[in-house]
Amino acid sequence: MSNISNKWYVRNVPCRTNCPADTDIPGYLEFISKGDFINAYKINLIANIFPGVLGMVCSSPCESSCRHGRIGNGESVNICNAKKSSFDYSDKKFIKIDPFFKNSKKKVAVIGGGVSGLTCARELSLFGHSVSIFEKNDFLGGLLVSGIPDFRLDKKIVEYEIEQILSLGIEYKLNISLGKDILINDLILDFDAVIIAAGTDKLNYPDAPSSNSLFVHGIDYLKNSLLNDSLESFDNVSIIGSSFTSMDCARTALRNHSKEVNVFARNDFQNNSHLTKELEALLKEGGNTYNHHSLLKVENNLSYFANTNSHQQDLLIYATGQFPDYDILDNKIKKTLLNNNGFDGVFLTGDFKTGSSTLIDAIADAKKISRIVDKYLMKEMRFENKIISGQKIQSKVNGKPTLRSIEMNYLPRINTEKIIKKKNNTEVGINFFTEKTSKNESLRCYLCNLKFQIDDEKCVLCDECLKVKPKEKCIVEITSISNDEHYSEFKSKRDPSLYYSKLFIDTDECVRCGECERVCPTNAISIQKVSKLEVTI
Ligand code: SF4
Ligand code: SF4
Ligand code: SF4
Repeated sequence: MSNISNKWYVRNVPCRTNCPADTDIPGYLEFISKGDFINAYKINLIANIFPGVLGMVCSSPCESSCRHGRIGNGESVNICNAKKSSFDYSDKKFIKIDPFFKNSKKKVAVIGGGVSGLTCARELSLFGHSVSIFEKNDFLGGLLVSGIPDFRLDKKIVEYEIEQILSLGIEYKLNISLGKDILINDLILDFDAVIIAAGTDKLNYPDAPSSNSLFVHGIDYLKNSLLNDSLESFDNVSIIGSSFTSMDCARTALRNHSKEVNVFARNDFQNNSHLTKELEALLKEGGNTYNHHSLLKVENNLSYFANTNSHQQDLLIYATGQFPDYDILDNKIKKTLLNNNGFDGVFLTGDFKTGSSTLIDAIADAKKISRIVDKYLMKEMRFENKIISGQKIQSKVNGKPTLRSIEMNYLPRINTEKIIKKKNNTEVGINFFTEKTSKNESLRCYLCNLKFQIDDEKCVLCDECLKVKPKEKCIVEITSISNDEHYSEFKSKRDPSLYYSKLFIDTDECVRCGECERVCPTNAISIQKVSKLEVTI
């Protein structure tokens, strides 16, 4: 055992560090590379609750930080599609995670059965508390059901993953609105804690007055398109806004047989990097986008923009954001919470707390709040993170080099197929990984959780490893080192006349190819797997 720190892990496993839900990405990619999709799915399920859903619609901050995508290393591992394959090729039997603690006899009410509410319910149920969800709609899942178009998210996956959560024994009541059917003060009396995960129900409209023009908010447009079979079709649709919602509305309108779809951004679409892939898809599908179009007024089916022409439309869609509806709260509680003073026993989470965010951010916040609620209920923190380093191994002894070379091929990302203009035309499933492709893609992962290290006492400075290293700075010559976890502290050879006395593997540069370890004649190089685990105290 060695004392590898959290700092080492944070720096060395950037994909996990950048996953808001702290998913063990190298852990599940290693399982996929061996064809074990069930365990890969389980790792995801424990960390991010909705692996199949996220495999389709996650904003994937892990991919943009992947070591494989750094200059000179090629392209990032296609992590999200690999995750989707862990759903596609698992056996689809509900995975029951063992509860972390026995029944606490504490009762928690969760207001809202969307992503953050369901996440809190799953977590607190595993912590031994009885959870009841109160949902104002006649379905669970929130925007997964009513806000993300079918062509981006297969609703069968949503249904499956919600059922998997409910199978833990979570109670829920539909068609119950806070502030109308139930009051927060009653819930405070009946439950040991109340979590409000009510999303963002207050729709925002710009100041521009709309007279004699048909308009709808983007959230309602998507909801109608998804849940209403007899939807009216409009030839000419204008959409105001440059958000995810505007892209979804535009691509939905094209599938709803609209002939012309124009999307107007006050700023510049390209500045919103999350939208890049969707923007490309929309343009391919025949939509039009306009940058720097600030809406002035709307009259007689015409939208007028500052410094530009007007545009005519049959339907105007405002994709101009939405906010939490604090009016569902009792006045006193509302005032206290809005002044950022906690209200005893009441907790906010997800979009209701932060405003609109991504799915993975909402899940991460709900996980965090669940642990805070657990501490509130049990009067102690019952979890901690641990860094555990495995045995030092020499893979060549087993004849198994790591095979993480940088020369492997890079797989293309998904291209959106040309639109077929009919409702529910789906991009779901198109070009998703086959079993073989996902195994090969997972093999590209360097497994950054492996720590390669040179033991000074065994190294005879033969330079064999320096001859085979693929990266200029993965093995560096140094005169001394104080602590190899702190990269700034090793001293490199400064005086050319002075022969270096040590070799050091900089694991931030190392791509875990295994070559140095393979050629070392004295077995001075070892490999250790480092794991980060949340454990109960
Ligand atoms: S190579 Fe693998 S472990 Fe390393 S950052 Fe990319 S996905 Fe994560
Ligand atoms: S495993 Fe060894 S040779 Fe390969 S990149 Fe890392 S330090 Fe360099
Ligand atoms: S191959 Fe092994 S013994 Fe030779 S310099 Fe590298 S670590 Fe030292």
